Amino acid sequence: MVTNPTLLYVEDEAGIRDQLSRFLGYFSSELYLAENGEDGLELYKKHLPDIVVSDIKMPKMNGIEMAKAIKAINPKQHIVFTTAHSESGFFMDAIDLQVDGYILKPINLDHLEEKLEKIKEHLNLKRYYEKHQEELQRKVYIDDLTQIYNRTYFEERFAKEISRYQREKTPLSLVFMDIDKFKDLNDNYGHQVGDEVLKELTSLLSDNIRQIDTFARWGGEEFAIIQPNTLLENSKKVAEHLRKIIKNHTFCDDLTVTCSFGVATFKDTDTQEDLMKRADEALYRAKNAGRDRVETE
Ligand code: GH3
Ligand code: MG
Ligand code: MG
Ligand code: MG
Repeated sequence: MVTNPTLLYVEDEAGIRDQLSRFLGYFSSELYLAENGEDGLELYKKHLPDIVVSDIKMPKMNGIEMAKAIKAINPKQHIVFTTAHSESGFFMDAIDLQVDGYILKPINLDHLEEKLEKIKEHLNLKRYYEKHQEELQRKVYIDDLTQIYNRTYFEERFAKEISRYQREKTPLSLVFMDIDKFKDLNDNYGHQVGDEVLKELTSLLSDNIRQIDTFARWGGEEFAIIQPNTLLENSKKVAEHLRKIIKNHTFCDDLTVTCSFGVATFKDTDTQEDLMKRADEALYRAKNAGRDRVETE
C-alpha cells in the first residue's frame, strides 16, 4: 500500500512558492499553502499534514518559531526547511528542533524529492505496522472460535488486577465456569453443534457481564471471569445469575445446557495460583454435588 502524504508548504516569496508548489502538488495527496509562519501554523492545526516544508525567513512568524509551535503539538512531526546560505545562523536552531533536514536554496528538486521520498517511505511503514499491530494484538489475545479473550489475556490481566489489589486493597474475585457433560453433547450432536453452543453461550454471557469484568475462555469448555471490586457474596450472586440465564436459554433452536461454577476471592497472603486453586476446587465441588450449581471457597 503506497499512499501519498498530505503536505503543508510555507514560503513568503511568491515566485519560489509557485514553482515549488507545482512539484509538491504532484508529490502529495493534499497540498496546503501559506505565506508566513502564522498562517502556516493555523493551516497545520486545521489539517495536521504528514509533512511540513517551510522557508525560514518569513514575515509575522519565521519558520523556526512556527516549527517550535508545531513540535509542541506533535513532537514527531516531519519538517523540512528550505533555506538560503545567508540564513545559516538558523541552522543550529533547526538541529535543536530535530527536523528532518534542510534543502539549500536555490532548491534542487532532486534533493528535495529524495528527502521527501524517504519521509514518505517512513510514514507508510509506520502506518503498515500500526495497522497490522492491531491484528496481531487480536490474534494474541482473542480466542478464534468465541471471539472473547483467551487464556494469554486472562493471565496478563489477572496479574494486573492482583497488583491493583495490592495497591488499593479493593476486593477481587474470580469465577471459574465449566459446561456440564459437554462431551455428551458433542457425542450426541456432533462437534460442530458443540462449537455453535460455545459461541452462543459466550455471546449470551458477554451481554450479561459488567464492563469492568474480564470474561475469558480458559480452554475447551472452561471459562473464567475476573471481577474487580467484587466481594465473594456478590461474585456468587453474579455466578448464580449467569447459571440461571444459561439454564433457561435454548441453544441452536432446541438444546439446553447447564454449567457449574466455582467462586473464590483474593486474600492478602494469596498468590495468583492460590486464588485459582481455590476457585478450581470450588468448581470441582460443584461438579461432585451434581452440577448446574455454584460453589464458593
Ligand atoms: P463435566 O460435566 O464433568 O465437565 O463433563 P464434560 O463432558 O463437560 O467434561 P470433559 O472434560 O469430559 O469433556 C470436555 C469436552 O469438551 C470434551 C471436548 O471434546 C469438549 N470440547 C473442548 N473444546 C471444545 C471445542 O472447542 N469445541 C467442541 N465442540 N468441543 C470442545
Ligand atoms: Mg523567506
Ligand atoms: Mg465440562
Ligand atoms: Mg472441563
